[in-house]
Order: sequence, then C-alpha cells, then structure tokens
Amino acid sequence: MFFGEKFRRKYALTNQGIVNVKKATFWTVVVNLVVMCGMGILYFLMMQFMNSLINGADFPNASMYTAAVIAFIILSLVTHFQQYTNSYTLVYDEIAATRVGLAEKLRRLPLGFFGKRDLSDLTETLMSDMNRLEHVWSHVLGYLQGAYISTALIAIGLLIFDWRLAIACLWGVPVAFILLFGSRKLSKKYSYETKGKGLDVADNIQETIENVREIRATNQEERYLAELNGKVDDFEKTMIRTELVTGLFVNGASVIMRLGVATTILVGAKLIMSGQIDFMLLFMFLLVITRIYAPFDQSLALIAEVFISEVSAERMEQIADTPAAGGSEVFAPQGHDIVFRDVIFAYDEEPVLNGVSFTAKEGEVTALVGPSGGGKSTCARLAARLWDVDSGSIEVGGVDIKTIDSEVLLGDYSMVFQDVVLFDDTVMENIRLGRHGASDKDVLAAAKAANCDEFVKNLPAGYETPIGENGARLSGGERQRISIARALLKDAPIVLLDEATASLDVENETKVQEALSKLLAGKTVLVIAHRMRTVEAADKIVVLDHGVVAEQGTPEELLEKKDGIFRHMTQLQAQGAAYRI
Ligand code: ADP
Repeated sequence: MFFGEKFRRKYALTNQGIVNVKKATFWTVVVNLVVMCGMGILYFLMMQFMNSLINGADFPNASMYTAAVIAFIILSLVTHFQQYTNSYTLVYDEIAATRVGLAEKLRRLPLGFFGKRDLSDLTETLMSDMNRLEHVWSHVLGYLQGAYISTALIAIGLLIFDWRLAIACLWGVPVAFILLFGSRKLSKKYSYETKGKGLDVADNIQETIENVREIRATNQEERYLAELNGKVDDFEKTMIRTELVTGLFVNGASVIMRLGVATTILVGAKLIMSGQIDFMLLFMFLLVITRIYAPFDQSLALIAEVFISEVSAERMEQIADTPAAGGSEVFAPQGHDIVFRDVIFAYDEEPVLNGVSFTAKEGEVTALVGPSGGGKSTCARLAARLWDVDSGSIEVGGVDIKTIDSEVLLGDYSMVFQDVVLFDDTVMENIRLGRHGASDKDVLAAAKAANCDEFVKNLPAGYETPIGENGARLSGGERQRISIARALLKDAPIVLLDEATASLDVENETKVQEALSKLLAGKTVLVIAHRMRTVEAADKIVVLDHGVVAEQGTPEELLEKKDGIFRHMTQLQAQGAAYRI
C-alpha cells in the first residue's frame, strides 16, 4: 500500500528512489524500536532501583545492565548511521540522477512544449522544485513512513500492556493526522496559488532585466517598478496566508498529539487510585510517551513542505508525461532535397501554414521571401522538425522527417539563425559546439573561413576570451560569424539560414557574405532572405504570403510576372535603397 506507483508519482521518485525510501523507512523503524528498547532498559533499571531502595535488597545483575546499556549505545550508533546514510547520502545521488534525467527529457521534447511553458517556469522546476523535493525526499519521506510503522508496532505493544493507558496515550496521533490530512486540500490550493504568484514575479523580473535598455530609453522605469511592486506585494500576501493556514493546522495537530500526555496522567492516576495498575506501569507509559511523538516531530514540522512538494512533483510529472519527439535512429536519405507536401500547421488554433508545397533542391539556394508574418520562419523551423506538421509531410531525401528521431535528424542540419545563442564560455568552445570533439586546429580553420579571425585577435585573450552570457561583448555581425564558423565546422549537408535584417554595417555585411558563400557551396540551402543580393543570387524563390505559396520560380521568372508580389517587393526595395542613398 505504501510504495506503489501512486506514491512514486506523487513524489516524482524514480524506481531507485522508491528502493531508497524503503531502505530509509526500514532503518527509521529500526532506530525508533532501538530507542524504545532503551526506554525498556531504563524501565527495568528503575524497577530494580526502586526495589532495592524500598526493600533494601541488593542491586542484582549490575553487570548485565552495564552490558545492556553498552549494547544499546553501540546499536543506537550503528542504526542511526544507517538511517542517516539511507536517508541523506542515497537521496543526493538520486536527486542528481533525476536532475540529469529531467534535463535529458527537456532536450528531447518537441518545441511546442516550450511555447506552453516559459523559461522562468522551467528554471523554477529544475531548480526550486527539485530543491524542495530533495528536502522532502531526504528529511521527510523515510522518517514519516518509518514513524507510521514503528508507532503502529509500539502501539500494539502498549495495547498488550494496558489497553486503557495505551488509548489515553495514543488517541491524539490519529486525530492529529486526520486534522492534517483534512487540511491538505486547502494547503495544496494555496500552495498552487503561491507558486503561480511566485512565477509571475520571477517572470516580471526576468522581463525587466531583458528589456532594461528599452525600458530606460522609453522612460518606463516607474511603470515597470510599480507593476513589479504590485506583484511582489500580491505574492507576499498569498505566501503569508499559505504559511499561516498550514502553520495553524500543523501546530494544532502537534498540540493535539501532545494532549496524550495529560490524558495518560489523568487516566493513569485514576487507575492507580482504584488499584487497577501500579505506579511503575504508569511510569513506563510516561517514559514511552516522551519518545513516541518524537518520530513525528521532525516530519510534522516538514509536513507542510510535503504538501507543497506534491505541487512540485505534479509539475515534474507533467514534463515526464509529455511524449518526446521520438523516431527512428537510422536516417539514410537519398540525397538531401527538402520537399514540403501540402503542409498545414498551427502553433495554436489558427493555421499559420495552409497547404504549403515546394522543393528545395540539393546544391541550390532556395530563398523564402514574402511579407512579415507570411510563414517563412515557420517553414524553416518545420524543415528541421523543431515542430511537427499537423498535416501533409516534409521529406528529406525521400524520408518523412516525422519518422526520424530529432536529434539524429539535426545531425544533418546547420542552422544559422538571427538569434544566435552563444554560451558564457570562450570563443573557441562556442565554435566547437558545431562539432563535438573537433580539434583546435579544425576549430581555428573554421573560424578563419568564417572571417572571425581578425576580430577575435583583437579580443584580450584571443580565442580563449570568455564572451559573456549570450555573447554580450560581441556585435551582431561578429556573433553571426561565430555561428557561421560553427556551421562550417559541422559541415552538414543542409543549411537553414535566417539572414539578419538588423544593423550590419557594410564591412560586416561583406564579411558575413563571404563567410556564407563558403558555407553554402554544394549544400541544400533554405534561406529566409531579406537582402536583394541574396535573393537575386538564389536558384529558386518561394514567396510566402499569409501561409500559402503565392509564387515560386527562379528570380528571372518571378520578375517577369506583371502583378507579382516578388516584382512588387523588389521595386519597393530598390526605391528604399535609392531613398537611403
Ligand atoms: P515570417 O517569418 O514570414 O515573418 P513567421 O513564420 O515568423 O513569419 O510567422 C507566421 C505566423 O505565425 C505569424 O502570424 C506569427 O505571429 C505566428 N507565430 C510565429 N511564431 C509563433 C509561435 N512560437 N507561437 C505562436 N505563433 C507564432
């Protein structure tokens, strides 16, 4: 009943975790029973002592008692050590495994999932939810389960000695737990609310930091701060309410449990007066009672955390339950033509692509053009199976990419997107991400080919310079060249390229173009094009407008179409260029 699948899911444990909790529980039971044995020794010792005091008898078996006390001390040390190892040390191994498992899982989830849960939410799960669970796994689960079992065993013993005293002593335990578990629903509801408000605050802070430049530039500091203040206040209120409610129930339960001491004394005194028991029996119950609540003490103090952790566990299980973007690990395409067949796709309800069909041939540059929001980026993402199509299909070399494991598939892709992600590591390591385990020589060759060399040489420690979180110290063009170097190093047969529209100066643009032409030679290239130069040099153009292919063909063919979108766009661009000059 204790450790079934429901229990496992409730606390987001792994199978090994269940084994560990079982061990921790076992040793907690042993520890609690050993402590009770200590109480037994004390009881008999006191009996002898009183006997010798009252009757003037000798104190027999002194050596036996000494041996018993020494044995008790040794046993106590050993069992406590076992309990400690099994509750804490093993749990930390488990938590490490779970964290890695979760990160692995996140890596394999379809991107649609990340659209539904934002970054601060996921960070919260990986960090604070895990911390909370870690605490509950190590400090509570084994102790609490062990306390149930040992208390039940001790209760049976006490009932055999004297059922009246046993009931007087123990009635508070079930009542306390009924009260606690009765309050569980309320605690959980409040915990969820607190969690939501906490996430709101985290989100707001993250947004403020990310947009600090825009906020300052537009004089929005006060508005942002007022909003943040409001959210923090709200969070604080919810938090206090949650703590108050749980604290009230937890302390109430603790007091009720301890009322057992008073009732035992009352009932005991009455039984002694009516001559039904002798004082030593009451004394034994009073000894036991000092220890019987102890196993619950620690767990009770933390039981609020158990309730809150159930919320954390539910959030983790949601991730675990989301199916990964799986598929075959063998990918053997015939060439690398990318074929879109009647692709329909929606991020949410509204379709963004509405029956898109085109082919991007190997060895050619296919340019996706069209008005903003037409679906160009979406096509590029779908081509790499960052999302799955809703209907229709996308094939690479005749293989439907839906059937291929995304990680295996992405082995054949290089992506050079506008939002280049750079890690807080050296330039060298950032380029090496292109191909795991590439030698320094290969990395340098790729960097050179991508025209990174001369700006890297000006950095304080050259290729060993750390580049700050997300490449904060580099310009847009420099970051893009690093990402091209990565792609060159990878040398994958398919290149997805999103040209930067933003702020590249002429020199940078030329350098980026040079680097690109080396990267693109002979590959299947799908480019989201913004510059006329790229568009004119493309082998094929696909014009996407409102999620459908409005025109497709070579640049020359499309320019001939009198009322064509492409022709119109080219004219606009030409006018824009003239205007700028
Ligand atoms: P383009 O690259 O041509 O500007 P996109 O493919 O980025 O067009 O966008 C097409 C449509 O899909 C737009 O209406 C956009 O708002 C929507 N869209 C893009 N990305 C997402 C997303 N992650 N979630 C929901 N809608 C999105």
